[in-house]
Amino acid sequence: MSTPEQNNFQAIISHAKEYGFVFPSSEIYDGLSAVYDYGPYGSELKKNIKDYWWKSMTQLHENIVGIDAAIFMHPTTWKASGHVDNFSDPMIDNKDSQKRYRVDHLIEGFAETLTAKGETEKAESILSQMDTLLAAEDYASLKKLIEENKISCPISGTCNWTDIRQFNLMFDTKLGSVTDEADTIYLRPETAQGIFVNFLNVQKTARMKIPFGIAQTGKAFRNEIVARQFIFRMREFEQMEMQFFVRPGTEGEWYQYWKEARLQWHLSLGIDAKKYRYHDHVKLAHYAKEACDIEFEFPFGFKEVEGIHSRSDFDLTQHQLFSKKKMQYFDADVDASTGKPYGNYVPYVVETSIGLDRMFLLILSNAYHEETITKEDGTTDSRTVLHIPAKIAPNKLAILPLTKKDGLPEIARALTDECKPFFKCFYEEKDAIGKRYRRQDAIGTPFCVTIDHQSKEDNSVTIRYRDSMLQERVPLNKIKEIVLKEIS
Ligand code: ATP
Repeated sequence: MSTPEQNNFQAIISHAKEYGFVFPSSEIYDGLSAVYDYGPYGSELKKNIKDYWWKSMTQLHENIVGIDAAIFMHPTTWKASGHVDNFSDPMIDNKDSQKRYRVDHLIEGFAETLTAKGETEKAESILSQMDTLLAAEDYASLKKLIEENKISCPISGTCNWTDIRQFNLMFDTKLGSVTDEADTIYLRPETAQGIFVNFLNVQKTARMKIPFGIAQTGKAFRNEIVARQFIFRMREFEQMEMQFFVRPGTEGEWYQYWKEARLQWHLSLGIDAKKYRYHDHVKLAHYAKEACDIEFEFPFGFKEVEGIHSRSDFDLTQHQLFSKKKMQYFDADVDASTGKPYGNYVPYVVETSIGLDRMFLLILSNAYHEETITKEDGTTDSRTVLHIPAKIAPNKLAILPLTKKDGLPEIARALTDECKPFFKCFYEEKDAIGKRYRRQDAIGTPFCVTIDHQSKEDNSVTIRYRDSMLQERVPLNKIKEIVLKEIS
């Protein structure tokens, strides 16, 4: 039996396809598992989210600059970063269904069912045992925890499990034309390493002084074993990461700063704060000092959308070791306690890392509403609307002449020409106006303007607001200004 949340999620996925937001990859060949393409409105929305992040980092912070590093990197990068040896998830297979699960997902799923039944204490105890055993990499005891609690496979319903094993998530390929002589290289599993290896190039060329940050957006690839939940977990996805380099000893303050600043960024999109929460990590990587996730209430529960990690000097020190090149910064500022300059050191790093596709899903699932409208005469109607924040909506303004004749299209075209250098407009003259409004609601266009016969007389038009559905008569020459004010 499906729950209302699952129904809602299915409706969002169908809507995303029907209205040109997200398509399964190579759909004519039945798609490719956990790989998706973005359609006309999806690619606009995705780009708008990326630009919103990029500006908040590089334009609003004087001490953050961007880079755009290649996806392919020298293979030693991934030895140094630990990904060759450690970038793996503990997995378990059910022998009856042949299905493979990430151990933490399997146990978390079981804990959620306990919580739903009111057995919160037991759920918490299992989760805390899991955290301890994962941290200790004690897979035999983890398997025992699964067996003792009779955690079964959702497909076969049995507890017939294999031992727990580790699977590396990196995709590899060959560089060079002669296969046997070619070097194995990896598709990057995160964008962060492109930032670390360029640390000194950026610091010197952009003349940055600590504390400073380097931001980057780009594709990352992970051979996720359990890839599901639409674009929540993909094999090819995009990250928006920022590494902030600080003086050792100040990382605690900067971690707090970024933890708060990143949540504020999410809230600046006008999304209900109750849908967000922090999840502080218990299980920390050995080099990490502190780490947390920003979680959002997706239709399938609270899940990570962004991670904030205090990574110490781990990455730069590792690259220094493997490359034999110094990764140090000279700090000329005077340390008040010694009266001398801080001198040379390997900076500490606080990282903020958010998935662009996951943020897209957050916006889409938060925006999607099926609404019943009561009309003035008491009858009801319904609409499906995307309440996408106006500043990142794919189209900002739909310009709709009431009819195709009588000079109305000419006025509408002139308005389109006036506005399109400033924001994305959509022009349409086909179908009844009500139908056109519904289509714009479904793709999340925040404003529609209708040009009618009165417009010819007095240069006034009707502006309709997507969220309130209010309509107002305003001067034609004020439209650009009104929209610019709302989206800035
Ligand atoms: P998860 O626990 O969900 O696997 P993670 O902790 O491995 O995520 P990070 O390595 O911290 O994720 O990556 C940073 C961000 O990148 C995540 O918060 C998420 O938004 C995004 N991300 C990670 N893996 C994927 C994926 N397979 N598909 C889409 N987005 C992803």
